[in-house]
Formats: sequence, C-alpha cells, structure tokens
Amino acid sequence: METNHKVYEALKWASSFLNEHNYEETIAQLLMRHHTGWSRSRLFSEMQTTLPAPIWTRFEADVRQAATGTPVQHIIGHEQFYGRDFKVNSNVLIPRPETEELIEALLGKIKSLFLNREQPIRIVDVGTGSGIIAITLALEVVHSHVHAVDISQAALDVARSNATALGAKVTFHEGDLLEPFLAESSEFDIVISNPPYIPEGDRAIMKENVLDHEPALALFAGQDGLTIYRKLIKQIPFVLHKKGLVAFEIGHGQGESVKALLAAEYPAADIAVLNDINGKERIVIAVIEG
Ligand code: GLN
Repeated sequence: METNHKVYEALKWASSFLNEHNYEETIAQLLMRHHTGWSRSRLFSEMQTTLPAPIWTRFEADVRQAATGTPVQHIIGHEQFYGRDFKVNSNVLIPRPETEELIEALLGKIKSLFLNREQPIRIVDVGTGSGIIAITLALEVVHSHVHAVDISQAALDVARSNATALGAKVTFHEGDLLEPFLAESSEFDIVISNPPYIPEGDRAIMKENVLDHEPALALFAGQDGLTIYRKLIKQIPFVLHKKGLVAFEIGHGQGESVKALLAAEYPAADIAVLNDINGKERIVIAVIEG
C-alpha cells in the first residue's frame, strides 16, 4: 500500500484485513490510538487527518502482526483492568474482564463482613500473574495488607513492576500456591485466586492466539481443570483466620465441584456460585464465620 492515508482509510483497511483473518476489527482502533496517542473521542475527530508516513508504517506492521494471532495487548504492551493500566507480556495471563466481576463480588462481601473493622484486612492473592487482583485490592481496600504469590519468577517481575507503576503496596512471594505461608504460620482474612482452571482436553477447541501466546502454566489444570482448586483448598485452613472469605474465579460448569471441595473443609460456610454478565458460572465465594 502507498503511505499517504487518511485515518479513516487506514482504519477501514485494517478492519477488513483483520476481519479476513478472523480477528476482531476493534483491534484496529486500539493500534491506531496506540501509535497516535489519541483518546477514543480524539480519534473520531481526526478521521479526515492524513496519517504521517512513519505512523502509517508502524500501524500497518502491527495490524499485520495482530492478524497472525499476536494478542493486541502484547503488541501495545498493556491492558486495562478495573480502570487501571497493567503492563503485560507473554509470561502472564492477559487480564480478562470477567476477573473484574470477581473483584466486585469480593468488595461487596468485604463491606458486609468487615464493617467497622479497625485492624487492616489481610489479603493473599494466589497465582497473581500480572498482579491485577492483588494490586487492585491494595488500591481499593483502604485498610489492607496485601500479599501475592506466584510460582513463576517471570510473572512476579511483571507484577512487581505493575505495583510500582501504580503505587500499590503489595508484598510478593515466589512459591507454589500457599506454600510460602505454611511454614511461617501466617494468617489472612481473605484468600483470593484466579487459578488456572481449563481442562487439558480443551486445548483442541481453544483459539491459537491464546494457545500460542499465553502461558500454559496460567491456563491449564489437569484433566478436569480442578487440580489447583483441590490442592489450594486443602492448604487454606492452615492460613485463613476463623472468620474469613475465600473467593475464586472458576470456569463454567465448575461451580458445584468447587463448592463441594470448599464445603468439605468448611461444612458451615455460606458458599455461593455466581454467574458473570454472560450468564456463565464464574465466581465461587465462601463466607466463613468461625
Ligand atoms: N491472577 C491473574 C489474573 O487474574 C493471573 C491468573 C492466572 O494466571 N491464572 O489475571
């Protein structure tokens, strides 16, 4: 293509190119905004502007790369979560909007369970990845002490840099699930996790842009997708205060199984399975009151 293009022409080409390769047309706008630095509304007012040639060249290259399956978040290097920008790369799961619903559900429970509480609320995020859950909670729960753990050193590097960039105070630990805390008899009021929960067999039906670009370690959990919940739930009683909350993101169809695993450790707990805005089972939240 020649290099003299108006913004709307460049977007039109990009949208149809992405569409032909079965990728979302909205990626075109994200890449255009990335290269111009424009807000969404500014973009609409600049449609008739001629794109400077160097911007066109970079935009075109990125659109072609996105059409090969590279996630747009990896091309631009970040993704929004709960209104904040988080750096991401191929060592971490890309934040998903469903996980914002997990945050919402937990914040609601915190308000009712820890009303009038004076001491800080002690929270641990297990399998923190890019750090979205831990960092968001550290910034949203005013009086909190947040710890986060991940088995991947490379993921922790991303999470630490996100915490620094966003000014969140989170203590990071390298380790397998709650293991770093078992020896030192730590105590938490809240255990939260969005662990890997996809059954291995689902690889066959997953999109290439996920399989080829996101870490398998963050996605898969054995034949039924429940391996991590089983192991984690057994560890929880060793670190959770007698009055506490457990909140998990889950996959559709896993609600009753995860609820049963929690009920085996906490028979008296009030355990709810919640759907996401698409009507799919997405959250299990347990209120434990001694
Ligand atoms: N806690 C991170 C997130 O929700 C990472 C999750 C994961 O890697 N399974 O994105």
